[in-house]
Amino acid sequence: MTPLTQARPLLSPFPPSLLAGSRDGLAEVLATLAEAIDTASTAHRPAGPLPAGTPAEVLAAATEALGAAELPAEGLGAKAALQRLATVLVEHGIDLSHPRAAAHLQPPPLAVAVAADALASAGNASLDTYDSGPSAIAVERWLIGVLTRLAGLGERADGVLTPGGSLSNLMGLLLARDAASFRRGINAREQGVAALPGPVVFCSELAHFSTHRACAALGLGEAAVFPVPVDERRRMRPDALAAALDALGPDRTPVAVVATAGTTDFGSIDPLPEIAEIASGHGIWMHVDAAYGFGALFSERLAGRLAGLELADSVTLDLHKLGWQPAATSVLLVSDTTAFTSLDREVAYLNPVDDAEAGYDGLLGRSLQTTRRPDAVKAAATLLTYGRTGLGRMVDTCHELARHAERRILAEPELELVAPAELTTVVFRYRGNARPAVLGELNGALRRRLLESGTALIGRTEVKAAGPGSRTRVCLKFTLLNPTATADDIDGLVDTVLDAGRTCERLIEEGAA
Ligand SMILES: *Cc1c(COP(=O)(O)O)cnc(C)c1O
Repeated sequence: MTPLTQARPLLSPFPPSLLAGSRDGLAEVLATLAEAIDTASTAHRPAGPLPAGTPAEVLAAATEALGAAELPAEGLGAKAALQRLATVLVEHGIDLSHPRAAAHLQPPPLAVAVAADALASAGNASLDTYDSGPSAIAVERWLIGVLTRLAGLGERADGVLTPGGSLSNLMGLLLARDAASFRRGINAREQGVAALPGPVVFCSELAHFSTHRACAALGLGEAAVFPVPVDERRRMRPDALAAALDALGPDRTPVAVVATAGTTDFGSIDPLPEIAEIASGHGIWMHVDAAYGFGALFSERLAGRLAGLELADSVTLDLHKLGWQPAATSVLLVSDTTAFTSLDREVAYLNPVDDAEAGYDGLLGRSLQTTRRPDAVKAAATLLTYGRTGLGRMVDTCHELARHAERRILAEPELELVAPAELTTVVFRYRGNARPAVLGELNGALRRRLLESGTALIGRTEVKAAGPGSRTRVCLKFTLLNPTATADDIDGLVDTVLDAGRTCERLIEEGAA
């Protein structure tokens, strides 16, 4: 025997179940995981959506439960490892399925979506090339087909999954930038944007900050953002947009209008048909940031509010908001597939021309990423499981919860409704009998008190009062995304806020005395 053959192992020291893709590898470990979650939930689940304690206390407890930051010489085995992590996450983590979890556009994910996500992870396909996962490509194309049809974007429409609404907005503006450059005879991808004179991106003053970030990242500069004023219902004013466009000098290049369909705080939807008409009249790109609002299309009752979405050149939507997916499940849709040309790439080891011509091609040319998770799998499983009616009912239920919260707030003299429920958020503040001068401090303290007690998780924001030159006010926000919550749960949430408000008011007034 030669040393060479001796060195070659004929048998692996590992069982096939080491790998998730093996026949029973995943089933075995999922059973262990289910047991670990059950044990941790029975023994340690906090009473509220958050563990009680200050941030330092909560983080210290979670760190301690994890054990020393040392790679163990010998592994603990899956059972002990999963048990430990289940304890850390359940005992010291967030419980979004709790009916008093109402802070952010961060839904409790659907069980079926999480299971399908495990299936996707087990396969570990990637979307960039044919030979990194053909069926994952089929699933993404299926999902894009379903969503472009739901949006009414037409036969030439296309799309791609991205790691979040911020990135979908970045991509939408990238395509808009390249289209605007192209019209000026500039190849922005190769030459950069220095040659593009005075770029301008219009959006409402309530647009998500990722629009500003995207402008910075794309070399347009944050100064390119032109914030258009909103009306009393917090929607972009088309007359103000038209006036701003008409006033642009010849040294400026309008790159895009970003309309928001569902502002993060208020759920307000810009008037899409009017904005589309203005954008098309000036020959500029219309991007609709429907990260939050797109889910309204599932609801027969609310879908009409998104009329005009079909006129967009590109659309951002987050199924990890009103879609109940675990993050990340965001999508950028375009009305015309040729928009993706500016992302096309030919890479010798991924998509050589002769392979691509023979059909061995993936989705590399639609994304800024190379390796890309099959995030469409969980979304496809969800849409197949519940259909439009099932998802619509979830949207309607959350909308109804928000309407109930709005009525309750209106009926409470200690609370002030700041913005009504358009979709599934309600903005308000606690007033009690406090002096106006302390209301900002009071509402901030109230929310932190709830966080520290762990009894309720609510949002906070700042809202400009109506009228020119007015100051912003600290407000509280419910973001209601739990379709299993009830009106009683909302009443309990409001009561919890009132209790905390009265306590904070007393503490502040005593402190001032
Ligand atoms: C949440 C949100 C975004 C950002 O999406 P992420 O997935 O958090 O990156 C963009 N626009 C609007 C209107 C949003 O509500």
